[in-house]
Amino acid sequence: MILLIAVQAISFAITFYANKRLEQQQLGNQLSIAELVFKSEYDNRNYYLSAFAETAAKDFGLKEVFIDNDRRSFLVALNNHRKRINADLAIAVDKQGKVIGELLLTPAGVDQGKVKVGPEQGNLFRYPLGSEFDNNSPLYPLGEHVYQLKFAPITSGAANIIGWIGFGYIIGDELTHSLSQQTGLNTGFMLSGDNQAQQIISLSAGELSTSDSQVLNDFIQQGVRSEEYQLWQAFLGEIKGRKLHAFMYLSRTDALESSQAQWLQQLMLILLMLPLSLMVAYIIARGVTKPITQLITQARFIAKGNYHTKVEVGSSTEMQALAQEFTEMQQAILSRENKIAFQAFHDPLTNLGNKNELARVTQAWFEQKMPLALCQINIRRMTEVNGTLGHEVGDKVIEEVSRRLTNFNNIDLVCRLNGDEFVVAIKQTEAKAIRSLIAQIQQEIEAEYCYQDISLHLQLTIGVSFVHYPSDLETLLRQADTALQHAKKHRLDVQIYHQQIDVNSVDRLQLINELKPAIANDELVLYYQPKLNLSLNKVTHVEALVRWQHPDRGMIPPDTFIPIAEQMGQMNALTRWVINSALTQYLDWQAQGVDLAIAVNISAENLKDPDFCDYVLTTIANKKVPIEALTLEITEDAVVADPENAIKQLSVLKQHGLKLSIDDYGTGYSSLAQLKQLPVDELKIDKSFVQNLMINNDDQIIVASTLQLAHNLGLGVVAEGIENQATLSWLTERGCEMGQGFYLSKPIDAQALTLWLAKSGYQRKRHNTVVELN
Ligand code: C2E
Ligand code: CA
Ligand code: CA
Repeated sequence: MILLIAVQAISFAITFYANKRLEQQQLGNQLSIAELVFKSEYDNRNYYLSAFAETAAKDFGLKEVFIDNDRRSFLVALNNHRKRINADLAIAVDKQGKVIGELLLTPAGVDQGKVKVGPEQGNLFRYPLGSEFDNNSPLYPLGEHVYQLKFAPITSGAANIIGWIGFGYIIGDELTHSLSQQTGLNTGFMLSGDNQAQQIISLSAGELSTSDSQVLNDFIQQGVRSEEYQLWQAFLGEIKGRKLHAFMYLSRTDALESSQAQWLQQLMLILLMLPLSLMVAYIIARGVTKPITQLITQARFIAKGNYHTKVEVGSSTEMQALAQEFTEMQQAILSRENKIAFQAFHDPLTNLGNKNELARVTQAWFEQKMPLALCQINIRRMTEVNGTLGHEVGDKVIEEVSRRLTNFNNIDLVCRLNGDEFVVAIKQTEAKAIRSLIAQIQQEIEAEYCYQDISLHLQLTIGVSFVHYPSDLETLLRQADTALQHAKKHRLDVQIYHQQIDVNSVDRLQLINELKPAIANDELVLYYQPKLNLSLNKVTHVEALVRWQHPDRGMIPPDTFIPIAEQMGQMNALTRWVINSALTQYLDWQAQGVDLAIAVNISAENLKDPDFCDYVLTTIANKKVPIEALTLEITEDAVVADPENAIKQLSVLKQHGLKLSIDDYGTGYSSLAQLKQLPVDELKIDKSFVQNLMINNDDQIIVASTLQLAHNLGLGVVAEGIENQATLSWLTERGCEMGQGFYLSKPIDAQALTLWLAKSGYQRKRHNTVVELN
């Protein structure tokens, strides 16, 4: 409603001001038109008078009476001519300049319309007749009047001027009325002189008020314009030292009076119409705004996520159609939102939950401190499947694994994190139960899977973490992933997380700071694990494996601190300490009559140290131990990092007769042929191939072929990770040179090893128990 009033008011104002501007313009235009009208009227009269004077001058009859000197006949003839153009003045002048005829038409008063003989009859004409007077559109005062007067010469024969005849019109009321009528402006003539005595000689509007006449005077005399009046004036000529001006004017109030009346009418109309239109507007608005308000309320509802109320508004068909559209839109939003929400929490390929879903579901479990195990599951050789069989098959495999995993009732949640990685959550921390569930899962997944003509045996690697409160999903996932990476690295099917396998555990930071002093303060200790010569059935070697006997934490396994030492530049110090201790122990044993060569592990960091070879050889020389006393075990990875330098260093050592062994063979990427380039004597088959040798056919194939190839290349083979007699026998039968593993002995300290050796029957009988020192 306010809007309606505002619209009315604004439109009124706009029209009002537009019109006002137009009016101003129109007033301006009116003046220009007035000027044109005046000029044409005034000039026309001059032209008319002179044209007529010329015609009359040529009139033969007039010429005759002019020459005859018959005054009366002449005046009659003159008057006849005068009458033809209704001139106010007719004058004839003879050659000598004497006025021989002057007729005046009385314009006003009692004698109106009468023709009289003028006062100058018989006198000399006041002006010199000829070109000068005529050319200047002369003004001719006579009696009370001023005339426009035009002469033409009367000639006899060729160019013999015998006199003049002229006609004139009064500049007066007749002219002012005609101009006023044509222009709509007040028109008048004014005589003014230097002494300011102005005289209005005619005015269309009757009397001038004093203020008006003041304004006019200021304008005409000094050109002062007035706000109140539209003014125009023209100087016509001088008469006896006074100036004759024509003027036209209009007061603005007069000009605008009529239009203001119109505006008033319009305003009245608006005031009258307003209540009526307000009423109509209200009625219409009720029909439109009410349903719209309802729709707005509904839209707000929808914005808040309420999608279930049906939209109902008004009864008009349009409104109902709109409401229907609204309801449909609401449904569309709902279904789209559901879809988006689903996509945000689910994996599009398998429709399993994703990491968001895992976080969402487990949040409550963490809050309730629920016992929880997370299994991070990796499908083995997925890259191979994708690479050789294509991604379509890869996707099918993932879908199948997802299907089989979801079939388990005792799994609480299955999610797919990415690619070939799944996470299974079980509300259970009983290790035995989890292990048995994992065994079932593996059995289920390993069941043959056929797609088109392809038959696949899928296998899983699983990393498990158990919740220990306080904990959270991120921690638990990280631990499961650490376990999974560990399992992959060590070719295990399952690995349960524990701190020892976690190089990134919280304790790591502390260990970093403590390691350096630990080496200096002899907190490290060497354990020894026997390497059995399988053909001799005697232990000829031991492997030195370092441990950290931490004052607070107890025994820390090397897998925990070796990576730290590698990263923190402590490896040189550590290896030097190990070599030194091992050789000292060698000498100890020799002194006791125990002949054991010692294998020491070295890492990639050691090979980067240019002084490493020197140190090893010098230490051997200084300790006066034979070169056979020491074997160095190097992982494939350590060589791969910088093969050129590694080969150079190892060659130096080899030249001096040091025995070199490739550790963890089979876990890296090098082929045996590549390894042949290395100056090594021995391969240590990684324990992951040996541990399950008796139950894993693949492992048997790998180990058997490795043995054969290594022997062909002239390398000895050590099998580590022997955990049972069967494996030991199997390896012995196939000509494996040495065996190492828990079945023989776990790594133990030197003293324990001495005892074990004595009891085991693997001790080599020596003829000479004292080392020859020379
Ligand atoms: P590695 O060189 O492969 O050492 C063999 C590891 O396998 C030892 O673990 C040993 O306890 C374990 N092992 C031996 N037989 C069996 C078996 O029958 N079954 C099973 N399950 N395991 C067996 P450890 O002592 O924890 O050493 C772990 C790794 O730490 C070593 O693996 C080696 O890479 C590194 N390491 C140990 N001491 C040193 C060292 O002085 N210097 C360097 N650079 N690395 C070392
Ligand atoms: Ca080793
Ligand atoms: Ca090894």
